[in-house]
Amino acid sequence: MNVEQIKYQTCPYDQEEAILLVDPETESMPDTDEDGDLQYYCPAGHHTFSLDEDN
Ligand SMILES: [Zn+2]
Repeated sequence: MNVEQIKYQTCPYDQEEAILLVDPETESMPDTDEDGDLQYYCPAGHHTFSLDEDN
């Protein structure tokens, strides 16, 4: 998995740039929710969301 290519996503709530959340214990593997979806943090809206790759 190439982290650099998935590091940024557009926030679905406010269309701002969101940053990939990384597991603080490994710092290299992206954090995922229980479904295995990538987690992102939106600094503009101060919220997190998961990227559902099925959509
Ligand atoms: Zn947002």
